[in-house]
Amino acid sequence: MGRMLVELGHEVTIFEALGEVGGKSFTFYHGENVVEMGTCYATFSHKITNQWMKDLGMPMSPLGDQRFDGDDFMKFVKSGYGPALPFQVLTYWKEKLRLERQLARPNPPQSAIEEAATPIQTWLRERNLGKIENFMLRSTTNIAYGFIDEVPTVQALRWNDMKLILTGLFKQLKMPVEGWAEFWRRVAARLDVRLNSRVTGVERGNDGVTITTDGGQTQKFDTVVCAIPLDEFIKMTESTALEREIAAAVEWNGYTTTLVAAEDWFDDVHVEAFREAVVPGAERGQMLSARRDGYEAELGGPLYLAGQLTGDYTAPELEELLRADITKHGGTVTNVILQKRWKYFAQYSPEAIRSGLLSDLESIQGQNRTWYTGAIFSHEAVSHIVNFNAELVQRMQKVL
Ligand SMILES: Cc1cc2nc3c(=O)[nH]c(=O)nc-3n(C[C@H](O)[C@H](O)[C@H](O)COP(=O)(O)OP(=O)(O)OC[C@H]3O[C@@H](n4cnc5c(N)ncnc54)[C@H](O)[C@@H]3O)c2cc1C
Repeated sequence: MGRMLVELGHEVTIFEALGEVGGKSFTFYHGENVVEMGTCYATFSHKITNQWMKDLGMPMSPLGDQRFDGDDFMKFVKSGYGPALPFQVLTYWKEKLRLERQLARPNPPQSAIEEAATPIQTWLRERNLGKIENFMLRSTTNIAYGFIDEVPTVQALRWNDMKLILTGLFKQLKMPVEGWAEFWRRVAARLDVRLNSRVTGVERGNDGVTITTDGGQTQKFDTVVCAIPLDEFIKMTESTALEREIAAAVEWNGYTTTLVAAEDWFDDVHVEAFREAVVPGAERGQMLSARRDGYEAELGGPLYLAGQLTGDYTAPELEELLRADITKHGGTVTNVILQKRWKYFAQYSPEAIRSGLLSDLESIQGQNRTWYTGAIFSHEAVSHIVNFNAELVQRMQKVL
C-alpha cells in the first residue's frame, strides 16, 4: 500500500516494529533452502504482486503434486454428494455472484445479510453442493480459514473465487524462488521504512495525526493507515465506538507452522493434506498438512513444513502433538528446527454480521483521519489485501 501511495505522489512513512519487513510473509533461509513459514503460494488473484515480481526479475516455481487423505485430491472432490462437478461449479458461481451483488448494494436486503452470516456448510447443503463442500475442506480449513460448519458464508465465498478454482485446476500455484521475504525486502528498499519502530501511540486531532514509537520519538502526519489488527490499534489510540465494535466482532484464529527434519516420510508428492484434521468437529492441534521442502544434512535430513490449528495449546504441546502425528503417518522426526505461531484469519461473528458489520467495515474508512487495511477488511491472503489496497488508495486519492 505504501508503494501504491508513493506512485500516486504521496509522501509515505512506514513504521515496522520488527527488524525486517514482511510480517506474515516469513522465509527461513539455510544454505540452498528457502522455506516459507508464512505466505507461500501466489494464485491468479495475486495479479499485482505477480507483476511486481516480474518487474523485480524474481522467478516463480510451481507447486508439485498434492495428495489429500492419502489419495488424489480431485478424486476426493468428485466423491462428494450431489450432481456432476461442472454443474456444481456453475450453480456455486451463479449463487455466489447473486449474493455478492446483493451485499454490494448500499442497503443490502436482510435476507442477504442472513445468508452472509450462515455457516458455509449449511449454505452449500441447501444447494446440494457436496463436491464443493469437499473442495473447501482443502481450500479453506486445511489452510486454517476456519471449519466449514463455522466460517460465515461471506468469508468462504470471498476466498473461494473463480480465480482460485482455476489456479487449482490448471495447477498454477506458484512461489517465489528467492522467497517472499526477499520480495518484500526489495519492494521496501524503495520506500521510507523505519525498522525497529513499534508504534505505541496514535493521537488524532483536527490538525493531524501524531505517531509515537517505542523509542519515544514523535512525528506528525496528515493521515494514518492502520495496517495492524484493529484490536491492537485501539489500545494505542483514543478509539472510536465503531473501532471498538469492529475489533470485538472478529475472532482471530491461531495457526502454527513448524519446520522439521524427518526421515522415512513421503517424498513422492510435494504436499500431503489430512482430512481427519479438517472435518467439522476435529480437534485443533492435529497436523493439517505438510509440505516437503528441501534437504539439509546439517539440519537432520529431508525438510518438511507442517501446519496445525493452534487452539489453546502451548508451543511444547503443539510440538508433541506434531511429533505424534508425523510418527502416525510413517515419518521419524530427527529435528524440530523452527516453530512460528501466527495470529491468523479474523473470523467474523455471525451476530455481528447480522447487526451490520459488513457496512461498518465500509463506512469506517477515512473517518478520524484513519484508513484501515489487513485481514479484517479483506481476507487473510496477500492477493486479497493487496487488491483491496489498490482500491482503497483510489478512494483515499479523492479525499487526500
Ligand atoms: C502460515 C501462513 C501461510 C500463508 N499462506 C499464504 C499464501 O499461500 N498465500 C497468500 O497470499 N497468503 C498467505 N498467508 C497470508 C498472508 O501472509 C497474510 O494475509 C499477509 O501477509 C498479511 O499482511 P498484513 O500486512 O495485513 O499483515 P502482517 O503480515 O501481519 O503485517 C503486519 C506488520 O505490522 C507490524 N506491526 C505490528 N504491530 C506493530 C506496531 N505497533 N508498530 C509497528 N509495526 C507493527 C508487524 O511486525 C508486521 O510486520 C499465509 C499466512 C500464514 C501465517
